Amino acid sequence: MNCCICASSLWDDETGRMICRPCERRIADNLKALSGPGGLYARLCLRIHPGSGNSTGPAVSGTRGAPIPANLQVLNLTANGGIVSALEAWVEDWASYGLAAVGAGGRLQHRIDWAAGTLWLNLPQASRRHPALDEFAREVWNIRKQCEALIDGDKPARKVPVQCSSAGCDGILRVSIDTPGETCRACGREYGHGEALQLTPVRTAA
Ligand SMILES: [Zn+2]
Ligand SMILES: [Zn+2]
Repeated sequence: MNCCICASSLWDDETGRMICRPCERRIADNLKALSGPGGLYARLCLRIHPGSGNSTGPAVSGTRGAPIPANLQVLNLTANGGIVSALEAWVEDWASYGLAAVGAGGRLQHRIDWAAGTLWLNLPQASRRHPALDEFAREVWNIRKQCEALIDGDKPARKVPVQCSSAGCDGILRVSIDTPGETCRACGREYGHGEALQLTPVRTAA
């Protein structure tokens, strides 16, 4: 059996699991990073500049009256229908397997905290039996990356080490959210923008 996210073979003591422990830990980290008063969602909300037309924030394009893409992205992500709804869709999905508790609504921050919390709490169970963990992991990571890219503002996008997905290749690529594409130095495989962003992140010892 292999982990359905990173394809590494599962250890004997991981029998019955769909994903390996490192992948589970990464998902748990990403859920934790999003929620709470100091989490990415809360910090992203702070990036919204009311009356953005004359905002002095770093996202301003300088063209009077023109839309401000970064600010609109922040609004889209933080509003109902954004991150909160993406997470809640997973909560409903997991709940149908008896793996999460649907929240009672409330303020957006509260809904985020609830959704991330119930998913986090049930992750060890889900690791054994949820059929779409790879998709879930990818979406949570994408949300985290989007938040971090917007919070970082106009600093160069952070590079994240990811695992080459060629069979038998243990090459590590460094991708950022704005990468046009990457090539694995170990095996020479080329990844387009979308493909590169779907590779599984790895934690480096350094
Ligand atoms: Zn894995
Ligand atoms: Zn490779």
